[in-house]
Amino acid sequence: VKVSELVQESFDQIDRVDGKIGAFLSLNEEAFEQAKRMDDVAKHEANPLFGLPIGVKDNIVTKGMTTTCGSKFLENFVPAHDATVVERLHEAGAITIGKLNMDEFAMGSSNENSAYKPVRNPWNTKHVPGGSSGGSAAAVAAGEVLFSLGSDTGGSIRQPAAYCGVVGLKPTYGLVSRFGLVAFASSLDQIGPLTRTVEDNAYLLSAIAGHCEMDSTSANVAATDYTQALTGDIKGLKIAVPKEYFGEGVSEGVKANIREAIQKLEALGATVDEVSLPNSKYALATYYLLASSEASSNLARFDGIRYGVRAEADALEDVFKYSRSQGFGDEVKRRIMLGTYALSSGYYDAYYKKAQQARTLIKKDFDDVLANYDVIIGPTAPTPAFELGAQLDDPVTMYANDILTIPINLAGVPAISVPAGFVDGLPVGLQIIGKHFDEATIYRAAHAFE
Ligand code: GLN
Repeated sequence: VKVSELVQESFDQIDRVDGKIGAFLSLNEEAFEQAKRMDDVAKHEANPLFGLPIGVKDNIVTKGMTTTCGSKFLENFVPAHDATVVERLHEAGAITIGKLNMDEFAMGSSNENSAYKPVRNPWNTKHVPGGSSGGSAAAVAAGEVLFSLGSDTGGSIRQPAAYCGVVGLKPTYGLVSRFGLVAFASSLDQIGPLTRTVEDNAYLLSAIAGHCEMDSTSANVAATDYTQALTGDIKGLKIAVPKEYFGEGVSEGVKANIREAIQKLEALGATVDEVSLPNSKYALATYYLLASSEASSNLARFDGIRYGVRAEADALEDVFKYSRSQGFGDEVKRRIMLGTYALSSGYYDAYYKKAQQARTLIKKDFDDVLANYDVIIGPTAPTPAFELGAQLDDPVTMYANDILTIPINLAGVPAISVPAGFVDGLPVGLQIIGKHFDEATIYRAAHAFE
């Protein structure tokens, strides 16, 4: 097939379904012309992504294409450069089809915090797709694009991947460049791939991973071909299952599917032991304290002067104040207030410092278990996708959707969500967590399981 045909197919599918799904915030008007120019270029063996349509979460900057972060504040923001990940995908020959819907500034678990429109779950449009990368997961599940990029600060790739029945990886902190990712909580944010299959996922990660000098937290690791890990052989793989991942709040339907997944992995030759991650119970509180603190600082740059929509006012102070009060939605304001309070003098030791200490303990739990096991597995989310509106007026219940994904961001280790059955027609995700920079073993296990 020709590249232009692939791109046309992608646009046709968007025309057919996106009115119901709402995954896209904008489309790349030049994509078809770009594809046409590639029709005559011979496909290069070394570029498996050549000519393939991708969708990009709208908090990853794209040159000449609006990047809103799902916020009214950035309604008119057109970046002057591409994020490193976008640049690398374009070098590999991929074509950006459009920008994907998300919770405002990546804060949310259902995509209902988008300032533009909610995203709906392709498996059942009464239900949410998860968040904050809900557009990224739904677009792949609905066949609008083959690949997408999301970002994961506290579950935002894996939880929507689980809810939409696709594969989503949060890489090791530092493996993928954050240059051009609009920062939410810089010590937790990572960009990662969402795809239909584990193999596609490995191709995409291979193209975007590796050192980037524009990101000071980028690790000094060489480019790797992760598809080499997809041997199908997991004999002798040592798997740990934390008992906390089958605790209160995890639905019976999810547990049943994950128990079945464990049996399947054992049948493939893996060994499975129960372990404990005792400090995981502090993860949710620790995360919301730290992520909100970092967000309050990162979002200070949105003042109505440097980026986005500027409110009408005579005095400079008022420009800041009105731009921020009109531009940000409720959840973003809630996080900024929480974070500002936690960082204010007199409270710093009681909140921020305490949370950093808890983070160290949570990370140590993972390091201790992973010293003796190849991977840790469990459910990605406590329940399948819930209905739109069901948790909107209860932020704390909403936050609990990420209780099983957040500890992984705090520890900095990589984890994937792969489809593992259904409950009442809605997908369930199996989460596979690995050692720092050992995405290869995660992919090996996920591929054998799939
Ligand atoms: N739901 C979490 C939050 O709202 C996760 C967000 C994310 O990973 N970007 O903060």
